[in-house]
Amino acid sequence: MTAKLLKGKEIAEAIKLEVRAAIGILPFQPCLAVVRVGDDAASAVYVGSKVKTSEELGMRSEHHHLGIETSQADLLELVNRLNRDPDVDGILVQLPLPKQIDETAVIEAIDPAKDVDGFHPINVGRLSLGQESLVPCTPAGVIEILKRSEIEIAGKHAVIVGRSNIVGKPMAMLLLRENATVTICHSRTDDLPSVTRRADILVAAIGRPGFIRAGHIGKGATVIDVGINSVSDPYLIRELFEGDDLGKRLATIEKRGATLVGDVSPKDALEKAANFTPVPGGVGLLTVAMLMKNTVQAAQRRRSEN
Ligand code: NAP
Repeated sequence: MTAKLLKGKEIAEAIKLEVRAAIGILPFQPCLAVVRVGDDAASAVYVGSKVKTSEELGMRSEHHHLGIETSQADLLELVNRLNRDPDVDGILVQLPLPKQIDETAVIEAIDPAKDVDGFHPINVGRLSLGQESLVPCTPAGVIEILKRSEIEIAGKHAVIVGRSNIVGKPMAMLLLRENATVTICHSRTDDLPSVTRRADILVAAIGRPGFIRAGHIGKGATVIDVGINSVSDPYLIRELFEGDDLGKRLATIEKRGATLVGDVSPKDALEKAANFTPVPGGVGLLTVAMLMKNTVQAAQRRRSEN
């Protein structure tokens, strides 16, 4: 079997077009405020892409970049100011934060109506209760990939590897909402391959490059790879890729020092799965598109209530 590659790029572009059209008919310009603390290189790239995309789609964006020594009190003051600003619709504080800052306190300080990351306990609780809420962008993107690729979810066995608050747990709630039968696995799961092999839909959100191998994948499954890992070891790359893909990956390591790899072995997924999301080019592209969708949704709800 050669798995069909699910088209993250096309789906993300379609969502962005829909968001642009929705913004075009609003009587106001939605605004996303992004807060970054410190100089983490990956955070700078993520924030840059969020700000750029929001502007491309016709939103206003504010980028608040604070120094690495910023105190928790100063960050909370900024969050409170953005909460009070009637022109700000979405607030996103890029994680991770420097060690002197308590991430939970910051997440809980964001107005739930502006919490476009969907991490506030109110939004997490509403999602668990099956109520309308702002939903974390990456798992929401996975649902869009499945639906827009016409992969049936209702009644299917979905197995998620990973139970983080950002991906694994909200993923489970969203799949449940779509009437899947859901199993959540983690580092303490006994005999992981025997569980994951029974999945119709297997979602890997682990943070270990190429961890999911042939023995984890049932024939004909849909495999969604959420992982994003930077790999510089050519030996690992030789285990995970073959043919043209292998050559390209080795050339990328040679040129840039590393290549981005998911949590699933692409070679094995392509051989055993029916559908597979590539990395890069899969779930990652959906995350920013869903953030844009959340911001417009937050703007419409809050402004219609005020
Ligand atoms: P995380 O908070 O580190 O959680 C990893 C999860 O994997 C944990 O629940 C952990 O189990 C589980 N795990 C670790 N080793 C395992 C093993 N040997 N067997 C079974 N389960 C194991 O990571 P995360 O934030 O969810 O991110 C996961 C991956 O997704 C990362 O590669 C990250 O870069 C990527 N990501 C991508 C996007 C995107 O936009 N595409 C967004 C967010 C994250 P325990 O709970 O037992 O420790």
